[in-house]
Amino acid sequence: RVAVVGAGVSGLTATKCCLDEGLEPTCFEQSQDIGGVWRYTEHIEAGRPSLYPSVISNTSKEMSAFSDFPFPEDFPVFLPNAQLLDYLRRYAEHFSLREHIKLGTTVVSIRKHPDFATTGQWNVVTEAGGKQISHVFDAVMVCSGNFSEPSLPLHCFPGIERFRGQYLHSRQYKHPDVFRGKRVLVVGMGNSGVDIAVEASRVAAKVTISTARGAWLVSRVFEHGYPWDMVLNTRLMSLIKTNLPRSLSWWLINYKVNQRFNHENYGLQPEKSCLVREPVLNDDLPSYILTGRITIKPGVKEFKDSSVVYHDCPEEEPIDIVVFCTGYNFSFPFLEESVIRVENKHASLYKYVFPTQLQKPTLAVLGLIKPLGSITPVAEMQARWVSRVFKGLCQLPPQSVMEKEVNEMKKNQVRWFGLTFDEVLKTEWLVYLDTLASFIGAKPSVLGLLCTDPWLALTIFFGPCSPYQYRLGGPGRWEGARQAILTQWDRVLKPTRTRVPADSSSSF
Ligand code: NAP
Repeated sequence: RVAVVGAGVSGLTATKCCLDEGLEPTCFEQSQDIGGVWRYTEHIEAGRPSLYPSVISNTSKEMSAFSDFPFPEDFPVFLPNAQLLDYLRRYAEHFSLREHIKLGTTVVSIRKHPDFATTGQWNVVTEAGGKQISHVFDAVMVCSGNFSEPSLPLHCFPGIERFRGQYLHSRQYKHPDVFRGKRVLVVGMGNSGVDIAVEASRVAAKVTISTARGAWLVSRVFEHGYPWDMVLNTRLMSLIKTNLPRSLSWWLINYKVNQRFNHENYGLQPEKSCLVREPVLNDDLPSYILTGRITIKPGVKEFKDSSVVYHDCPEEEPIDIVVFCTGYNFSFPFLEESVIRVENKHASLYKYVFPTQLQKPTLAVLGLIKPLGSITPVAEMQARWVSRVFKGLCQLPPQSVMEKEVNEMKKNQVRWFGLTFDEVLKTEWLVYLDTLASFIGAKPSVLGLLCTDPWLALTIFFGPCSPYQYRLGGPGRWEGARQAILTQWDRVLKPTRTRVPADSSSSF
């Protein structure tokens, strides 16, 4: 019996993977519906993520699908939140997950059972309708997400207490009307910051983005108009990225991202070009900078009564409203610190999933990772691995080996990525997927396929690493995987190639 905490992307796939392995999942969802971060509500609910209605997925539908459940072909290539939620509902229906989900049920505490050392069991207390119930579970999958607790580090912004204008966190933002006719400052150039600045600039008097570090800006519409992730997340590209000398691979990334426009000329160039941070996905920002609708400024030095002063800029800029797009914290209030300790936005977990110090590997965290690619197949792969570990079909290495790797990773992340903000959660998407897939025997063998199915092998190697690749063989093999891979571009073109001239002979 497995307790799954949360019914978002990770919780749904966790429930499904448990069922696939013959385990008995019970998924507890504190709100009244499934969908997690993708379920938009006009009202901001405590303890739940809050979207603005215009959010569109940053990753394309073929790269964001569960590996045995492609998106409908007529869905757009990048998904408005309502359609992504629709997909999650279809997934839940298709795999009959609903009957395993208890809505309106909050997990209050998860504690080791007194016999934990021998059984690995957990005492789980849930609350529904004001009534608490205690359960005993053999294992737990924590899928509670990491976008519910806004990070609003006001102490980093001297003078904010005397600023007489209005300020809010991006979590509170819903519609651009609040900015009408105002001078708006957006603090932080993550995806929320840029989305909100772009929307604000259509009605505001003036919009400025203040960024301490800058960021690479990637367009959803990438080379030749194809989705960015289908071009960049290929096995060939991953091989190049991970095997070239570091300076050369950085040169290559610099070259690629500056091809459309020079980041330095637009004030966007990342502070240290060797510092990896999540790229910002936005198609409008460059043209909005070019047309003067948005101005980019350095980090905030201080606020005054009705203005802001930036680092390295002597003048004050008058401001009416500030939106702090400063990201999110995460925590596990239902768990003891001795099980998972979160430090500086980092939880020390083996492969970002398993606490290393438990006598029994019966608790796992899903989706607590920010790869440069879609989280959906990552959470699914984690769930496939975890359910096989719970079942005893996969073993974890000894504690000392796991701890060594976690510490190494922490050290390397400091060296490579700089231990700032949420940096430590990032990792190479394809390499991570392949690693977990190899644990469960689902990693595709390109060389093997070259002998038996060369066209498929070439598509897998040179084409996008769509999640169906991980259903070609091994446990959870899906009959439809080969066909899904070979038709992935058809599903991309279906919603866009909606007018084909009679004399057209071109193919993609
Ligand atoms: P974020 O990516 O964590 O960015 C927060 C930014 O705030 C930082 O990059 C930094 O920007 C600034 N910041 C943070 N702490 C600060 C401090 N102490 N002092 C000064 N500045 C600070 O947050 P987010 O943009 O809200 O995004 C959260 C997650 O949601 C991300 O994974 C993002 O991709 C995702 N998201 C997705 C979509 C979508 O799919 N369409 C939309 C929105 C968000 P600077 O270095 O620039 O100052």
